[in-house]
Amino acid sequence: SLILGLESSCDETAAALVTSDGAILAHRLAGQEAAHRPYGGVVPEIAARAHVEALGPLIEAALADAGKTLADVDAIAATAGPGLIGGVMVGLVTGKALALGAGKPLVAVNHLEGHALSPRLADPTLRFPYLLLLVSGGHCQLLLVKGVGDYARLATTIDDAAGEAFDKTAKMLGLGFPGGPAVERAAALGDPRAVPLPRPLVGSAEPHFSFAGLKAAVLRARDSGQYSVEDIAASFSQAVVDCLIDRTRRALKKVDGATALVVAGGVAANNNVRETLQALAAQHDLPFVAPPLWLCTDNAAMIAWAGAERFAAGLTDPLDVAARPRWPLDPNAEAARGAGV
Ligand code: ATP
Ligand code: MG
Ligand code: FE
Repeated sequence: SLILGLESSCDETAAALVTSDGAILAHRLAGQEAAHRPYGGVVPEIAARAHVEALGPLIEAALADAGKTLADVDAIAATAGPGLIGGVMVGLVTGKALALGAGKPLVAVNHLEGHALSPRLADPTLRFPYLLLLVSGGHCQLLLVKGVGDYARLATTIDDAAGEAFDKTAKMLGLGFPGGPAVERAAALGDPRAVPLPRPLVGSAEPHFSFAGLKAAVLRARDSGQYSVEDIAASFSQAVVDCLIDRTRRALKKVDGATALVVAGGVAANNNVRETLQALAAQHDLPFVAPPLWLCTDNAAMIAWAGAERFAAGLTDPLDVAARPRWPLDPNAEAARGAGV
């Protein structure tokens, strides 16, 4: 079947057409970096308005790229959360309107499920269950992906997400927005051992991540005036990688039956992160799967694909389904930790 996917949960507006065989017939994306750059971060109201302007033309362009019309589409998948609620509503309401007008079923997709299943779009041989490191702007989690809609969260961050740490470090170092790619470029010119920085929770018996202390240490290093921006960026990146690897290694020891080690989310676009995880997987004799860079950061192909997986499992949604600013993939783990993480 053919699925139209819509994404608008943060600051990328996107539309894509993907088949249930994993063929990406079209994917279109409009970023909003220029609109948010003066503020050094995503401004929700500006984002929502930009989604309204961009989404319609992107859908038309994606259909034209694929040589398809709405009549050819079997289902419409739209991100229904989590994310900035104004933006989520733009995509979800657009999806509902198209579904109603064209008489097609609607699939309300959890943005995190889009990230979590994107490796199966990249590599059709990837089977459940797999251990997923989901590292993005808003999340840093280890999940056992057992099936479509079936996720066990093994670990999460107790403060900042890894991508958030990259973004804040970029801001502190004057490297601009968006932060992750800017820090990676600066880090390539620096010495990862130059600045002594903490690795919060590394070696800890508990499973979780923490990046707040690292962020504070970056600020102190900057204010000391002793180090170059490049050395701080390189040392920071190395500290993040060390944290991600230590926590993932711990999870690999604890978890049973994972068929592969998989990384997804925007921080998975970082080469140091990918290469180090690949080496860890090799040590454990596990295949390593990471989506191509464009599929790691926000896009609509992953939403269309998650929609295709849900549609194939018979999981469609009524037209009054609600947009959700918060929407954990594993509600049990969320309840166990209490609200807010
Ligand atoms: P979420 O998916 O949790 O709702 P989001 O959609 O904003 O958050 P993504 O688009 O998945 O997040 O990822 C964006 C994040 O990835 C940003 O924090 C960005 O700094 C980070 N990122 C992107 N490229 C790189 C890179 N090369 N190195 C490190 N971090 C990166
Ligand atoms: Mg973005
Ligand atoms: Fe995302």
